[in-house]
Amino acid sequence: MKKHQATKWSAIALGTALAAGLLSACGAAGATPEPSKSAQQQTNGGQDSETKSENPFADSAMQATVEEKDGKNVVTNPTSMQVVVNKQRYLPDGYEPSDLVVPNVPFSFGGVIEKSHMRKEAADALEQLFAGAKEQGIDLYAVSGYRSYKRQKSIYDNNVATRGEAEAAKVSAAPGTSEHQTGLAMDVSALSVNNELEQSFGDTKEGQWLADHAQEYGFIVHYLKGKEEQTGYSYEPWHIRYVGKDLAKAVHDSGLSLDEYLDESNLSAAK
Ligand SMILES: [Zn+2]
Repeated sequence: MKKHQATKWSAIALGTALAAGLLSACGAAGATPEPSKSAQQQTNGGQDSETKSENPFADSAMQATVEEKDGKNVVTNPTSMQVVVNKQRYLPDGYEPSDLVVPNVPFSFGGVIEKSHMRKEAADALEQLFAGAKEQGIDLYAVSGYRSYKRQKSIYDNNVATRGEAEAAKVSAAPGTSEHQTGLAMDVSALSVNNELEQSFGDTKEGQWLADHAQEYGFIVHYLKGKEEQTGYSYEPWHIRYVGKDLAKAVHDSGLSLDEYLDESNLSAAK
């Protein structure tokens, strides 16, 4: 990968990005990395050498993938599997994935609707994850996947109308900032909690399995307990986000949130 360097907005975007309040309801991002082993194959040389000693995810660093537009920080890599969207990082106006499909997994509801969808690569990975769980006696259900800008706006506006803006921001993502709009996220639950999206899911055997194994299939549980400040969201053991196997494993092993892991300073420190 090439070198990443601090861009003009690095200061703006990320510094403030992680200092926001908490929300819930699915959709954030993170930043600060550590290198995965596979990533540093030919590194270790020394941090002063330029070339190959960089973290393999440097190109996806938070600072390298955002630009300011109309006063908002907009991500420049919306179609990347490693994109980070959060309360301070918007998808480009009108963004809609072009490869949405319906994964062949059990859903908590009937019929095919908007939230049945995910992007193709993520959907394939979800099928493998569900199959892997099933083999170990774990029955998962898909509850909510892709959510369009339009639908997110409708949800958000409704919350603003009924709860006021401050409260709305705590329970739902502003349009353009939901990770569900990327088509890479799926909320997952189990019959043990009636397929509800609630924190007690994290204590079930299904939730535990997900926390322990999601990365093997390229997913991370994005909104971790204890990382609320970093992700901007409450603990959501049901919300998994596809990032690809290499990054998922690196993030999982690091103990950091995705947002922290992909922060440039952490990526560099991680070699
Ligand atoms: Zn979610």
